[in-house]
Amino acid sequence: MLPLVALVGRPNVGKSTLFNALTRSRDALVHDEPGVTRDRHYGICRLVEGRPFGLCDTGGLSGEEEGLAGATARQSLAAIDEADLVLFVVDGREGPSGLDESILAMLRKRGRRFFLVVNKTDGIDLGASLAEFARFGVEKVIPVAAAHQRGVPELLEQVLPEL
Ligand code: GDP
Ligand code: MG
Repeated sequence: MLPLVALVGRPNVGKSTLFNALTRSRDALVHDEPGVTRDRHYGICRLVEGRPFGLCDTGGLSGEEEGLAGATARQSLAAIDEADLVLFVVDGREGPSGLDESILAMLRKRGRRFFLVVNKTDGIDLGASLAEFARFGVEKVIPVAAAHQRGVPELLEQVLPEL
């Protein structure tokens, strides 16, 4: 069994784009419409150096409990519980949102080990963006621009020793 990393976060922060960057596939649906990835989606990150690990892209947590959004959220929770490490992905352009705060609280309540991955850091003031997320109090914060493959090697450098 490969170790498993789960990508978790609210819709549209770039989880599927990061999944693609890590697995180098176009498999995961990347879409502008929030909530387009409904099911858990698994892939493998194969590295030249370091052992491979499994990756799970989740549909995102909408905060809703009913209907499709509720089913998607339950899938995300299942992924969180089965993962060895969770990557909590947020949007560096939009900054912290209420839904981010809910997800943060949920991860802490579940006692999951997680890193905060600040995506979409291309073309923004990185220092200001990271300062905004500092109040989340997460020990490990990793800036990336998944759409441009930026920060991905640094992310892997942090993830691999945890698996
Ligand atoms: P998900 O809902 O969290 O899976 O988000 P997606 O991966 O589907 O991405 C949502 C949108 O954000 C798409 O339009 C992506 O092209 C865009 N996006 C993803 N990563 C980046 C990034 O690093 N920089 C910028 N500027 N946009 C990004
Ligand atoms: Mg997605």
